[in-house]
Parts: sequence; C-alpha cells; structure tokens
Amino acid sequence: MAEAIITLDHVVKEFHRRGGSGKRSGASRAVDDVSLRVDRGDIFGIIGYSGAGKSTLVRMINALERPTSGAVSVLGTDITALGESKLRPIRQKIGMIFQQFNLFSTKTVSENIAYPLQLDHWRKDYQERRVAELLDFVGLRDHADDYPAQLSGGQKQRVGIARALATNPQILLADEATSALDPETTDEVLALLKRVNEQFGITIVLITHQMSVVQNIANRVAVMSQGRVVEQGDVYDVFAAPRQPVTKRFIATALSGVPQEQRVEQLHRDWPGRIVTVL
Ligand code: ADP
Repeated sequence: MAEAIITLDHVVKEFHRRGGSGKRSGASRAVDDVSLRVDRGDIFGIIGYSGAGKSTLVRMINALERPTSGAVSVLGTDITALGESKLRPIRQKIGMIFQQFNLFSTKTVSENIAYPLQLDHWRKDYQERRVAELLDFVGLRDHADDYPAQLSGGQKQRVGIARALATNPQILLADEATSALDPETTDEVLALLKRVNEQFGITIVLITHQMSVVQNIANRVAVMSQGRVVEQGDVYDVFAAPRQPVTKRFIATALSGVPQEQRVEQLHRDWPGRIVTVL
C-alpha cells in the first residue's frame, strides 16, 4: 500500500470576524471538517473557486496556520500542535512556490536560489555546486546573474521552483503557481513540475482554480467548496463522473471555448477510454 505523506483528519479552521458596532461578530469557517490523504509520489491537485479554503488548507500543511480542531500529519509526524523548534526539520522538507513568485528583486537569480542554503549555513562551495545543478535543471544557466525584473513570468517561476528545491525537499506546495502565466508558459512550468515529481520523487500538492492544471499533471484531486472537500479521488474518476455541481462547473468552464458538438470528443481525447458524463 502507498505511504501516506500528508494526512488531514477532520480539520477545521475558523477565523474570528471582528465585529464593529452593529456588525455580526464570531467565527467563520475557512476549512470545514476536511479529511484527506496525500501519498508519497502523488501530484495532488486541490481545486476550488476563490475563497473555497484552499490556501488556508495548504498553510496548515506547513503549520503557517494551526487547525482549530482536527489533526494534521506530515512525513509521519503529527504537527497539529508541534512547537516551532520541532517544526523546523519538517518545514525544511517542504518547499513552497507562489503565484507572485516571491523572489528578492535585489538579488540575482543565483542569489535567490542560494538563499535557503545560506539560511541553513551550507558551505559556500556546496551552495555554488547546488545552485549550478538547479540552474541546469530549470534551464536558466544563461540567466544566473540576471535580476528578477529582467526575466519573463515563466522564468521567474522557474527560479521559484529552483529555490524551493535547493534544500532537497520531499514535498512541494504550489499555491496557484501558474495563475499569473499565459497558457503556453503555464504548460512549460507544469512540464517542469512533472519532471520534479518524476525525477526526484517529490510529492507535489498544488492548489488551483484552473481545471487544466489538474488535468495536465495531477493524479489525484480534491474539489473544495465553501471550506469543504466535496469530492476527492483519482483525477480521471472525479472528472469522468463528477458528482458535485461545483466539479461540473469546472468542467463546463474548461470546455467553454469548445463548441457543444465537439465537447464529448474533446473529453474523450482528454480522458481516453473513459466514459464521460455528458454535461
Ligand atoms: P482560497 O485559497 O480557496 O481562495 P482561502 O483559504 O484564502 O481560500 O480563504 C478561505 C476563507 O477564509 C475566505 O473567506 C477568507 O476570507 C478567509 N480567510 C483566509 N485567511 C484569513 C485570515 N487570516 N483571517 C480571516 N479570514 C481569513
């Protein structure tokens, strides 16, 4: 049986609303009783519209947010209430990439990639070797001394990926990593993430509001709506026979440019050998 690398067990996250005079105060649930399991080697997509609770969920995986109730385990350790010092070795095994890339504008490409190694006090010669390896892996050797402002969006995200890989993580969390990119660049970045998964065996959890992203590279998916995971499973199973209206809406949106008479054909092309519920 596959090894669970991340498990969430009945996780709830409430935020307190600040009640001004006459306004309702109290708690609102950003994540509402979510249980899920990510296995080692998965590319696990979490899809949902804005405000569905995806970021909050992912932030609980590296304890940037703590659950109000329920339990989160990562790499075999229950991190639900783990103190900062004990979290450190676990966080080191988790890389993160973001929609806005979050690069240092005053550092070069090489310096950005080396940053997590510096924080961990790696020797200078190791840092240089590792950065060179990563520049080759993401295809940016010729841009080592450029600054982020000199790069395209796709190149910036490749730097973000290289930086996230610097400390050899076992898990990569990607928060809308391709949402700021055009379709062609999105495909390039997704292909790179697939290589990260296949070549290094890194488990990837990616959150997105774009079905094409999940369809492109994920093997498993959880669909979120209003803080809940409304369905989850093998990508093909979930999208070939969607049970929930929100999942159907994602498929309909993904097919919005496809003429009605070609939709079934398109779905069969995307999911060969599967019977697709016609929308
Ligand atoms: P998504 O990533 O799917 O867009 P989020 O996890 O960002 O969703 O947000 C889920 C809900 O939680 C939203 O209603 C959002 O306003 C609320 N929320 C997220 N973070 C906070 C916070 N720090 N304080 C208060 N409310 C928050």
